[in-house]
Amino acid sequence: AAKQAGRCGYRLFGPEMIASISKRDSLEAALRAALSHDELILHYQPIVDIRSGVVVCVEALVRWKHPTQGLLLPHQFLPVAEETGLIVPLGGWVIRRACRDASRWPDGLPVAVNLSAAQLTSPELISTITSALEASGLSADRLEIEVTESALLADRDAALAALHNIRDLGASVSLDDFGTGYSSLTHLKAFKFSRIKIDRAFIEDLTREADSMAIVSALAGLARGLNMISIAEGVETDSQLAVLRAAGVAFGQGDLFGRPCPTAELRLTRQMAAVRSA
Ligand code: C2E
Ligand code: MG
Ligand code: MG
Ligand code: MG
Repeated sequence: AAKQAGRCGYRLFGPEMIASISKRDSLEAALRAALSHDELILHYQPIVDIRSGVVVCVEALVRWKHPTQGLLLPHQFLPVAEETGLIVPLGGWVIRRACRDASRWPDGLPVAVNLSAAQLTSPELISTITSALEASGLSADRLEIEVTESALLADRDAALAALHNIRDLGASVSLDDFGTGYSSLTHLKAFKFSRIKIDRAFIEDLTREADSMAIVSALAGLARGLNMISIAEGVETDSQLAVLRAAGVAFGQGDLFGRPCPTAELRLTRQMAAVRSA
């Protein structure tokens, strides 16, 4: 038993493990400081009505202006924020900032905000959203919350209750990254999402693979049948756009329409020149 414990001890505290633990600890400390030093920023990316070219919404995407490492993307720091629980205060900051920014945009353009699983089931979520709406003066129907299916897996009842509470506030809820991970049509029956975002993986192959085309058309039809809006993620080319149009997908988001950028650089005119009405 002693020998086994020793082996376990070695495994637990091996050099790579210590390196990765201390790396994570320092990242956590830096991220905590970033929150209080105003190093987080939001970039915004337009979501466009594929038929008219009108911008219908703008998605907030968090970045970390790291003092030495430059601009960090979510995959470089959100996993640590999620492991350490920092995602709750971080996500609260995102909600407040997004509501504040959106309240200054023209045309009553809505803003979409991503939520992690831990945020969704956090007891403070609803009061965070309520006070962000109040402080900014943004009307609740201009706030769209995006959740992935994985957020519904851990504590499904609590997650569904939270989604209902969000909708009761007057905000809407979209299902993000649909078609990857733990996809199940059950989730579409369990909650009346406003929008289904079709994962970029299917859009990438759209013009090369008949299978992806069939899947995207089917998802667009499914969304229509459920009275939900379909959104294609990661639209990069005109030929993808043409296929999406033919497939009846309602909205699109991606570099073709505009990369994520700071709010000042975002051309907040509802008509996007990038959309050719082919
Ligand atoms: P998401 O919600 O699915 O956001 C779309 C991601 O696709 C963004 O990556 C965006 O920059 C990227 N993207 C958009 N158009 C294109 C395109 O045409 N081509 C390619 N290759 N990529 C495109 P980003 O900003 O790195 O964010 C990654 C993920 O991090 C988001 O995926 C979302 O799940 C999460 N995230 C971002 N901001 C927040 C936040 O404030 N809170 C939480 N909880 N999660 C966030
Ligand atoms: Mg999203
Ligand atoms: Mg997505
Ligand atoms: Mg994604």
